[in-house]
Amino acid sequence: MAEPLDREERDAALPTAKTIDELRELATGCRACDLWARATQTVFGDGPASARLLVVGEQPGDSEDVQGAPFVGSSGRLLDRALVDAGIDRDEVYVTNVVKHFKWRRAASGKKRIHQKPDNVEVEACRPWLEAEVARIKPELIVCLGATAAQALLGRAFRVTKQRGEVLDSDLGPTLATLHPSAVLRSPDDREEMYAGLVADLRAAAAWLAQSVPAAARR
Ligand code: SF4
Repeated sequence: MAEPLDREERDAALPTAKTIDELRELATGCRACDLWARATQTVFGDGPASARLLVVGEQPGDSEDVQGAPFVGSSGRLLDRALVDAGIDRDEVYVTNVVKHFKWRRAASGKKRIHQKPDNVEVEACRPWLEAEVARIKPELIVCLGATAAQALLGRAFRVTKQRGEVLDSDLGPTLATLHPSAVLRSPDDREEMYAGLVADLRAAAAWLAQSVPAAARR
């Protein structure tokens, strides 16, 4: 594990990491907010350095916290299926979260760890990691899953339910927001409809990418 880094040290170290692997190693020691203390480990982004599409969710869940990789639990499996249904090759997508440590509380029963939404201070504290990932990967399109990621990139007034599925400008580049797979899983009554909406939005992302000139061709 890297040396522990407070926020100032983290910000000073970021430019020294030239690759995603170097960033990931640095992030193992991040202490820029309090979330590291109760989590098992930093869960950094994963995927090819040449990815044209970067998908960003809220934060790692319980399974991701234990396994140390993003989108490996039930939400990740649903995301995998939705990407396939939208005609997107999962192996060509870089996946990450706006917050890299799992925030949770203990259930009343005492065993289960219950997800807690990160607050704005935590999202802001973690944002330099996302900015650094975007700067290294240079994706042509960013897809935000759920309100936390969408509002981090598109502003706090953004409403996923009303403005999803459209490519908009964010300060990190062209960005489309859609539902988080966990929201689909949490809605047994509307699950099929919500899943179809998620796939439709991902298809819109694929169509946008299909008409975009790959970055490599522009260099
Ligand atoms: S949540 Fe982000 S900013 Fe906070 S300690 Fe973890 S990696 Fe650092």
